Formats: sequence, structure tokens, C-alpha cells
Amino acid sequence: MATRTGEQRHRVVVIGSGFGGLFGTKALRRSDVDVTMVAKTTHHLFQPLLYQVATGILSEGEIAPPTREVLAKQKNATVLLGDVTGIDLEARTVTSHVLGRQLETPYDSLIVAAGAGQSYFGNDQFSEFAPGMKSIDDALELRGRIFGAFELAEVMAARGQDVDHLLTFVVVGAGPTGVEMAGQIAELAHKTLKRDFRAINTRKARVILVDAAPQVLPPFGAKLGAWTQKKLAGIGVEVQLGAMVVAVDERGLEVQDKDGTRRRIEAVTKVWAAGVQASPLGKTLAEQTGAALDRAGRISVNPDLTLPGHPEVFVVGDMVSLDNLPGVAQVAIQGARYAAREIDGRLRGKAPQAGFKYFDKGSMATISRFSAVATVGKLRLSGFIAWLMWLAVHLFYITGFKNQVTALLHWAVTFIGNDRSERTATEQQIFARAALKRLKGGAAELVSAPSPVRSREELEAQALEESRLTDAGARGRSEA
Ligand SMILES: Cc1cc2nc3c(=O)[nH]c(=O)nc-3n(C[C@H](O)[C@H](O)[C@H](O)COP(=O)(O)OP(=O)(O)OC[C@H]3O[C@@H](n4cnc5c(N)ncnc54)[C@H](O)[C@@H]3O)c2cc1C
Repeated sequence: MATRTGEQRHRVVVIGSGFGGLFGTKALRRSDVDVTMVAKTTHHLFQPLLYQVATGILSEGEIAPPTREVLAKQKNATVLLGDVTGIDLEARTVTSHVLGRQLETPYDSLIVAAGAGQSYFGNDQFSEFAPGMKSIDDALELRGRIFGAFELAEVMAARGQDVDHLLTFVVVGAGPTGVEMAGQIAELAHKTLKRDFRAINTRKARVILVDAAPQVLPPFGAKLGAWTQKKLAGIGVEVQLGAMVVAVDERGLEVQDKDGTRRRIEAVTKVWAAGVQASPLGKTLAEQTGAALDRAGRISVNPDLTLPGHPEVFVVGDMVSLDNLPGVAQVAIQGARYAAREIDGRLRGKAPQAGFKYFDKGSMATISRFSAVATVGKLRLSGFIAWLMWLAVHLFYITGFKNQVTALLHWAVTFIGNDRSERTATEQQIFARAALKRLKGGAAELVSAPSPVRSREELEAQALEESRLTDAGARGRSEA
């Protein structure tokens, strides 16, 4: 695979700094290529621990190290902040924007790893009142809302007002994220905060886990699902299954039970942990190649993860629809490494690899402290052993030694002492996103317009002209 210019090194552009983007970039560290990673955040994000940021166990920095720092020693990698808005497969360029500035980045090979966002199943209006769990913004907003609800309840209870709606927390979606989130809110309310308030009894807080499915943790099988449900009940989580959310507003939500009955739950704090929708970049690629998109917006790719008719473009991770691959971190990591090997192999003249095969290393979810469920191959584990496995795996995959050390300390505070180290919440956390949404151009409206971007040739010509005029001016004076 020759470079287009013939002179410069082969240019690989990677879109996204999540599991696919970061691991793909790292896998190219010894290759004879220049890698440019374009991502809309400056950090890599360890999404599986977002619920711990939302519930005050970990700080955001521990699960979101700066990508630039992670890649500092990788000399062939450059990191660019930018929201990718276009990919031109013909021109082989990626268009990105940051605060009103537009950038075109050319590539010889492209790895698209833009992941997935939250899906509200066509009811995007729910998002205002029930934030999802996909980003640091989401987690911090939820932290603000959860701790804020207790604060407001204290104020109102002291004035003799009803606070049931403030002390009811609803988590929608009984997959791993929903189970972990509900379990942590319950432990927070019933253990961590129980001595901190005077007018309210936080142990009376209700935590409700709602799902339209008939069991919790469907991918873990019926037995572990039932075990988890019992454990959740034991720590004070009310599990309501076969209940579909049909309306959400500021003060609560409406659910429809299997028999068609609609009922209302008064709850100011709602967490949406159900449904994903692949990055809209999948649609851009589908329109240019004719590749199919599934209902979750994932794009069909060839068995080697390339786009039909574009062997230079790989799509990996949550954006991909291939062989029913699950939306998990290992699919993204292994897919990105596969793509990196293929790019490197082509440059070295090696034969193509066989199609991508995912190696399933297992799944796990925590329920409460010292209690988790895990599946590894045919093995089904629950309780303390599964929790120890969860601890070891997550510690191993947290990026950066310093984050591993501080996460371990924070876990000791929470799991041994029932306490939380990261309870800080500000008004901005809760309201800033809603305020930004009201601006038509988003954050770009808050900064001055960028000066027009000029080409290097133009800038060099200007510099030459300025130095000529300066020289002429100086000579003119001395000659006078
Ligand atoms: C709350 C939660 C808990 C989870 N728990 C687990 C778990 O326990 N185990 C497990 O295996 N998996 C878990 N997952 C799933 C796992 O995190 C994903 O499968 C994995 O992150 C997918 O990797 P990816 O690279 O495809 O996407 P991501 O890791 O989501 O990365 C996408 C990247 O693309 C960037 N991006 C997106 N759009 C653009 C754009 N237009 N321009 C520029 N950059 C863009 C994003 O900023 C991000 O850097 C969890 C997910 C969530 C949300």
C-alpha cells in the first residue's frame, strides 16, 4: 500500500480516543506510519466506571486520562481535538470542527472508532430529565442531580414539605450499567449518607430499577439474572420488570406494565441506562458506500472490518455490525488491534490476515460492595469471587499507573469504609449543558470568531513581504 504523495510516511487517521481509537493508535507505535488521532474530547474514557464517578466513588480524572499524556511517548502519534463532521472517502480526508474552526486531515488509511451514544428509542425529549451514562458530562451531571436531590430534600423537609419525589431515584434499564448504578445509589442512600442529614432519613430513599424486559442482566442468563435481582432487593432496590417507560418529565415518569396499565412514579432524579445508537458517522459512511445500517445505526463491514470498496477504511468497536458482535470494550480493542496489524502488514508486503475473530474474555457486573456476577466461557460466578475478579480486571484496564493507585485508594475508602471521596457537585454540573443547548451554535457562540485560516504559502508570502518592507524601511532611513 503506497502513500499517496510518495514522499511522506503513510498517514493513518484514527477517529475517536475511546477503546478502539486509543488501542488502535498504540498498536501502530512501531509501524512506519504517522498517526493522527482526531477526537471530540481531550481524554480517553473508561466508560465501565462512569457510574462510580456519578455516585462519588471515583474522580473523573481517574477514568478519563488526557489522551495527549497517554500518547506522549509515542513519537509517531499526534492528537487533535475536533468533532469529526465529515469523511470524504473519495478525497480521503476527514473534516473536523473545534469552536468554529474547521480542519481537513488527509489520510492514506483510516480507522473509524467513534463509538455509540445513548438511545431514547425515538424519545429524545426524555434526555432533558433523564440523563444517560455515556460521557464525563453525563456522570458529573448525574452526580450533581443525585447529591442535589438529597440537599433539596433536606431544605424542604425542614420546612415541613413533602420530599418523597426527591428521595425517589429511578434507573431505567436493567443491563450491567443500570444494575451497577441502582446498586450504588442504594448503598449511597442507605449507608454512606445516613448520618449526614438532620431533617431527612436517607435510609428511607427509594431506588427503583425499571426495565421492559422480563429479567435483569439478560446477557448473563436466567440464573445469574435471578440471583442479581434477589441481591438487589436485599440492598433495597425495587426491581420493576415488564415495565416500559412511556413518558418522562421534570418531576417523574410514566410506565406501562405488561397488562397495559399506565402508572406514574414521582421521582425528580432519573437515570437513563437503556439503549445505544451508533455514531452518526456510520450514516455518512453508509451513504458513500451503500453499506447497510442496522436499527442501532451500526454499519455492516467486510469480515476484515473494512468498508465495502474501501480497503483503506476500517471501522471498529460499537459502530460495527458484524456477526452479532456485542458492544463491549474488548470488541473495540481487539478490532482496533486487528486493523492496526493489517495496515502494518500491508506496508511490509505481508499477506492479508484471515477475517476478524472476536475472543470473548467474559463479562461482569457489580451489584454492591463485595458482590458481583461474572461469566467467563461456560463458567458462571456470583458473589465475592466474582467481585474480586471484577476488581482485578478493572484495576488492570484503568489507564495509567497513577490512576490505578488513586482508584485503589478510593475503592478502599468506599468498600472498606462505606464512604465516598468525590462528593463535590456544583450548579454548573447540573445546569450548564441545558444552558449550552439553548445557544444555537453551542459553545462556539461564547467565543470570538476565529480568524480566517490561511494556507502556509499565503503566510510565507506575507512574512516575505513584511521583511522586505521592514528592510526597505530601515535602509530608507539610514540612506536619508
Ligand atoms: C456506562 C457504560 C458501561 C459500560 N460497561 C462496560 C463493561 O463493563 N464492560 C465492557 O466490556 N464494556 C462496557 N461498556 C461498553 C464499552 O465501553 C464500549 O463497548 C466501548 O467503549 C466501545 O469502544 P469504541 O472505541 O467503539 O467507542 P468509545 O469507547 O465510545 O469511543 C468513541 C470515541 O469517539 C469519539 N467520538 C465520537 N464521535 C466523534 C466525532 N464525531 N468526532 C470525533 N470524535 C468522536 C468519542 O469522544 C470517543 O473518544 C460500557 C459502556 C457504558 C456507556
